[in-house]
Amino acid sequence: MNDNRRPISSRFAPSPTGYLHLGHLVNAIYVWGLTRALGGQVLLRLEDHDRGRCRLEYEAAILEDLEWLKLEPDHGTPAEFRAGSTPYRQSDQGERYADILAGLVDRNLVYTCTCSRKDILARTGDQHDELRYDGHCRSRGYHPEVEGGTRLLLDGRSYGFHDLCLGPQVQRPAAQCGDLLLKDRHGCWTYQFAVTVDDWLHGVNLIIRGEDLLDSTGRQLQLAQLLGCDGSPRFLHHPLIHDSEGKKLSKRDFSRSLRDYRAAGWSPGRLLGAAASAVGLVEERQVLDPETLSELFLGGNLVQQYGRMISDETRQEGST
Ligand code: GLU
Ligand code: ZN
Repeated sequence: MNDNRRPISSRFAPSPTGYLHLGHLVNAIYVWGLTRALGGQVLLRLEDHDRGRCRLEYEAAILEDLEWLKLEPDHGTPAEFRAGSTPYRQSDQGERYADILAGLVDRNLVYTCTCSRKDILARTGDQHDELRYDGHCRSRGYHPEVEGGTRLLLDGRSYGFHDLCLGPQVQRPAAQCGDLLLKDRHGCWTYQFAVTVDDWLHGVNLIIRGEDLLDSTGRQLQLAQLLGCDGSPRFLHHPLIHDSEGKKLSKRDFSRSLRDYRAAGWSPGRLLGAAASAVGLVEERQVLDPETLSELFLGGNLVQQYGRMISDETRQEGST
């Protein structure tokens, strides 16, 4: 059930594993532009759960780039991050994650898994487009003293949601990825666990991210249900920038960071315009004012879709 009276809250959630690039900027345009067009608030969260890959230098650069772009979050402001520990930085949330995991342990919903990626692949072959855990350690129980990851027992339920860009979706996490890893073998909280807990605790009710994360949504819905999270967020998975050969640009492919463009003399407005035109949000390369990104969405299809979704939910809730 959704609480339609709650103000809209969305988030921009980069991982400080590198510098921001054009793909992040596309996401930021959707997040700030659409959220503002809907009258909502944006929070900035730094997803530094992967302790091996995150660096403070990248965190500082993200904050600086957002200030340069004049993309201002309502919560998790650069000043808040620079002041020290904050609920919006995942590495500051270890105790909270541990408490939540302890609740799952008490309910016998997790177990210790000692398999490496290689072990799993050796058993399952690589016929799937992603690694699917085969449940090998399922019957072993939870043994925190054993070096290994922690997995969540998933039943075979399917999860449906209506994506604001892509329409109705159905996903079955147990068949896609198998039992979800919550904490890895090196003791790092996983993306799926940290993001689900945070979106819930931060009151995020509109999740706006790239299409590359579409498959994560069913997993996060299943985990949220097991955690007893109240209210399901709405989702929008937007198009990604493609390179000249039509291939999706992944983080690794982006050799040019926003700061490279900045060093080459680009203005924030020109960069925002380039990112927006690369995904067809504006017709031609134009200069965009960061203060008026909402104008890209006001009265547009996504705002209308959102309105329809809310009235459908309200109708359904009224009839139950
Ligand atoms: N931290 C993720 C990333 O940088 C984004 C997560 C999300 O939007 O759910 O790719
Ligand atoms: Zn295992």
